[in-house]
Amino acid sequence: MTHLIHRNLRHTPPVAVSAFGMYMRDSAGKTYLDASGGAAVSSLGHSHPDVLAAMQAQMKSASYAHSGFFTTDVAEELAHRLATDAPGDLNHVYLVSGGSEAIEAALKLARQYFVEGGEPQRRVFIARRQSYHGNTLGALALGGNEARRRQFELLLMDVARVAPCYEYRDRPAGQDLQDYTAGLLAELEERIIEAGPQNVIGFCAEPVVGATLGAVPATPGYFKGVRALCDRYGILFIADEVMCGMGRTGTLYAIEQDGVVPDLVALGKGLAAGYQPVGAVLARDHVVERVRNGSGVFQHGHTYNAHPVAAAAALAVQKVIRRDCLLGAVTVRGATFRRMLRDAFGAHRNVGDIRGRGLFVGLELVQDRDTKRPFDPDLKLHAAVKEQAMACGLMVYPMGGTIDGRRGDHILLAPPFIATEADLAEVVTRLSDAVARALVAVR
Ligand code: PLP
Repeated sequence: MTHLIHRNLRHTPPVAVSAFGMYMRDSAGKTYLDASGGAAVSSLGHSHPDVLAAMQAQMKSASYAHSGFFTTDVAEELAHRLATDAPGDLNHVYLVSGGSEAIEAALKLARQYFVEGGEPQRRVFIARRQSYHGNTLGALALGGNEARRRQFELLLMDVARVAPCYEYRDRPAGQDLQDYTAGLLAELEERIIEAGPQNVIGFCAEPVVGATLGAVPATPGYFKGVRALCDRYGILFIADEVMCGMGRTGTLYAIEQDGVVPDLVALGKGLAAGYQPVGAVLARDHVVERVRNGSGVFQHGHTYNAHPVAAAAALAVQKVIRRDCLLGAVTVRGATFRRMLRDAFGAHRNVGDIRGRGLFVGLELVQDRDTKRPFDPDLKLHAAVKEQAMACGLMVYPMGGTIDGRRGDHILLAPPFIATEADLAEVVTRLSDAVARALVAVR
């Protein structure tokens, strides 16, 4: 017998046979309301006619062009649009096939920047505990997801770590928000000094943490402080916007809301909204100019770089977001959604925190909201929520267990930007049901 390898080798998931708008349907005829866009991917919902048409047109004209031989109009136009809409002088775009690839490319471009600048000794990246930057070895090394790292530790490069900006759990009662933020920045500075600033390549962080914490934005001033430290010590700031970028938080780039310009930005997921596998790295002028004026070659590359059909899908997605004013819709609907969630769960004993920006929202589940005591990770409450949600015909993206030595159960919600108020109300109704059932199942 031959088998497709699924993530869980003992379990075959339902077979998806069709998807339209907010809904997916399986081969048994059951429909699922997609409240997580898969894993914060499907920002336009499913089967959007404009995106399908753009892909089809591109397939008919040139379905593949190796980037070592050709460029294409769609790839150039996509790069132009991403750079034009990006903050500051993030004027350069490198197109890959997904988020992990984007992170790998960002790490390598950052390293090459220093090698070509005559500083080949620089090798240290700094990242935050409870972060996720992808599953390839470089990206896995950067992230702090213990479960995903455990078996591969010996293969991973050393990365210096600092605390995440995780106010709900880490700010001691009574501590001023500014003092909490200053403490985090002091730790980052300490880590830079410990490694020797002359050895550090860069600091990488998600502007709004997704897959390990569930939509946790930074505290006010945190990223301004990060930018200032990176400038002071001459290291690069890499923003991982694979999950939180491309409109998910109400601005095209999540970091816009923090008022700083990173040196490199990694994109994925929402870039082509799942219609094609696409990722990108944006780089500032000074990064690319140094390599252009040095060796002239970025020592990297994949067979599917700047794939024309993928670029056509991403370009169409970006045009729809602009034409249909979806960034504004995300901001407005996001506020409504959080209000609905607060109405449903605000007094729930087992919901400790409801947080997020735009349509990127997280719920943290706890045994007791007053003490914030998490559930025993062995209960796998997050997995029970996913199972019960699927039973209720709802897709949410829970995560949990032990992450970097810390317990937690989080539910990430990332509905498509086209969600109506009625859709969001239905999400909350089904989620209430799923959470209630999951709590019974694990007790
Ligand atoms: N970076 C972040 C912040 C992510 O959330 C993810 C995926 O969840 C990745 C990188 C990796 O992206 P991909 O799964 O497309 O390789």
